[in-house]
Amino acid sequence: MPALIEPTDRGLYCAAGDFYIDPWRPVERALITHAHADHARAGHGHYWAEASGVALLRHRLGANIAISGVAYGEALTFGETTVSFHPAGHVLGSSQIRVSDGHETWVASGDYKRDHDPTCADFEVVPCDTFITEATFALPVYRWAPCAEVAAEIVAWWADNAAAGRTTVVFCYSLGKAQRLLAEIGRLTSGMAYLHGALVPLTRLYREAGVEMLASCPVSECPKEHDFSQDLVLAPPSAAGSRWMRRFGEHRTGFASGWMRIRGNRRRRGYDRGFVLSDHADWPGLIDTIAATGARRVLATHGRTDVLVNFLRQRGIDAAPLATDYADGPEAAES
Ligand SMILES: [Zn+2]
Ligand SMILES: [Zn+2]
Repeated sequence: MPALIEPTDRGLYCAAGDFYIDPWRPVERALITHAHADHARAGHGHYWAEASGVALLRHRLGANIAISGVAYGEALTFGETTVSFHPAGHVLGSSQIRVSDGHETWVASGDYKRDHDPTCADFEVVPCDTFITEATFALPVYRWAPCAEVAAEIVAWWADNAAAGRTTVVFCYSLGKAQRLLAEIGRLTSGMAYLHGALVPLTRLYREAGVEMLASCPVSECPKEHDFSQDLVLAPPSAAGSRWMRRFGEHRTGFASGWMRIRGNRRRRGYDRGFVLSDHADWPGLIDTIAATGARRVLATHGRTDVLVNFLRQRGIDAAPLATDYADGPEAAES
């Protein structure tokens, strides 16, 4: 009997339901876990995604895509399967996708994290027989401090820079991380963050979804004579070292990412500060989640699958790597 979900050259395919999950080549029916570029690609016939992520997908893939918004927990029928979306805690609208054919249940987690994030629904443990897990940070060295602590570090650094008359520039991924920072910093201080253009529409969509965040203003709307020396600026990593940075004069740069856990990554890329903050599960988060699902079988993708698979096998869990086209590594454009 074929597996309920199998890798193909177009993506993860469920033959019993005739649909794909996060396919990387054009297909008729695409169930999408979230709006990051490596999971949500253009060119599919029809899309399904959790309702709060639909506006993000339309923004990225085109206003005219055929897409159905699904509520978390709502049961859909595809062929011989029942499908439902469950919170993954990764970014707004991010989902794990549960597929059952009445005999066995699979969950494809997409990207996920276990820490609370004020910008999206908390991860839900979904019991299953086979769990497809990401493995982006599957090394024991990756352990995250609470986001509120990291936000407090950023606010303190911003105050030091402002006192010295230097602009504070924090690089972060434009979908998810930027809004999480704005939400967490907004709980600690009032004031204003200035945004690179890449962050502006996505932040607006989060506000329209009712997510409370620090007030923000596009850098492009500031008058030419605006003095940024007391200000906090958020920008995507691609803006580092670009002409766009010149307007800030004296400034300090930081990068908010799980990859900053490794000091060499910060030094190599020339940031003044690294803030360890990820929207992916850390090592304990992966291990605890896999155990909590009760899965007999684990398929690992998206990162250090080798380490995770070996660890699980040593503990008697049937584990294997699953080849996909999803991005990983510190250079991945998880934008
Ligand atoms: Zn993602
Ligand atoms: Zn991803």
